Amino acid sequence: MRTPFVAANWKMHKTVDEAVDYARSFLPLVDAVSDVDIVLAPSFLALPALATATGSSRIGVAAQNVSAEPQGAFTGEVSLGMLRASGITHVIIGHSERRQLYGETDAGVNAKTRATIEAGLSPIVCVGETLEERESDRTFDVLDRQVGEGLSALTPEQVAALVVAYEPVWAIGTGRVATPDQADAVHRHIRQQLASQFGEASAAACRIIYGGSVKPGNAAELMALADVDGALVGGAGLEPTSFAEIVAASRPVRRYNQKIMLSIVLTALYVVVCLLLVAVVLMQQGKGGDIAAAFGGSGSQTAFGARAGATVLTRATTVMGVLFMVGAMTLAIMGQRGTGSILSGVDGPGFQQAEPATLPVDSAPTEADEAEAAAPTDAPVEAPAATPAEPQ
Ligand code: PEP
Repeated sequence: MRTPFVAANWKMHKTVDEAVDYARSFLPLVDAVSDVDIVLAPSFLALPALATATGSSRIGVAAQNVSAEPQGAFTGEVSLGMLRASGITHVIIGHSERRQLYGETDAGVNAKTRATIEAGLSPIVCVGETLEERESDRTFDVLDRQVGEGLSALTPEQVAALVVAYEPVWAIGTGRVATPDQADAVHRHIRQQLASQFGEASAAACRIIYGGSVKPGNAAELMALADVDGALVGGAGLEPTSFAEIVAASRPVRRYNQKIMLSIVLTALYVVVCLLLVAVVLMQQGKGGDIAAAFGGSGSQTAFGARAGATVLTRATTVMGVLFMVGAMTLAIMGQRGTGSILSGVDGPGFQQAEPATLPVDSAPTEADEAEAAAPTDAPVEAPAATPAEPQ
């Protein structure tokens, strides 16, 4: 079973104090959640304070970018060694805003991903198509390229431990969310691509999370999809309560309950159809017994009228027969895709704290960051002219 993974990307929001206030409000809300990997990604400046504020909790802290270079003359850059020394556990790599606004390439994503893994931190590698690419039917080509080149030269073991975030660019900060069908198709495609590149076992273990206008109101529906293993959340991650609700919607218990309920309802309907099918067959004369007679009538012909009985029973038998076959096929397909089974999937790695922060959370809690929560989410990325690649 893959442990759900939910991360809040705060982008260029929140001061250091606001980040710490958020942690104070958020931690109690997810205190009892031990079955979801939760990560907060503040600005670079707030990373050490947030790592301290989250302390020995299970919550990871991610940088929104990193340099692939270990050190040197790279003005404005931050190294993996610096992140690790501050107790940072994860790094978001290749976010569409970095690709579009700062010219980040698949080769750069690959270099950063490999360097991050080598440094002992966990990458969250973002991929996703623009609206124009989707509308010109190039979604899968774009994703194949981003996954193929971005993860090139990784080992199957490294891919098994990886988090890939599928974020359709047209859904980021726009309020437009991918439909379950769209998300399902893409997540399955990415997993197939991973399987062909790194093998079935790695693909089955790799967590593929969805990002793009995830909110408390739509999270459960997305998380219920078999290949969606969590969420990368922007706007709704800025407010502790709404992010905690998304975490709650991602819990495996809830996901399995939904699957189990669906499977129980469909199985019960199928049993009813089977019983009705047996009944209508038995009600026909000469087919093993005459139920109408058993209930006090003088036979099905009498109960339904000679012609009407034959017509009604024949039709009912046909309908039940069709429902029987459709039901059998539905349950078979569900079993194949793992929708109805709580035993499907394989064990995936949870994240490891690179260096658990040791300082305690500061004393009295303050008000939650309401002003920040009320702030508008980020504007849609408008495909600005690519600027030269940032120095690595
Ligand atoms: C994001 O920035 O990664 C993101 C998914 O943003 P939002 O949830 O606001 O669409």
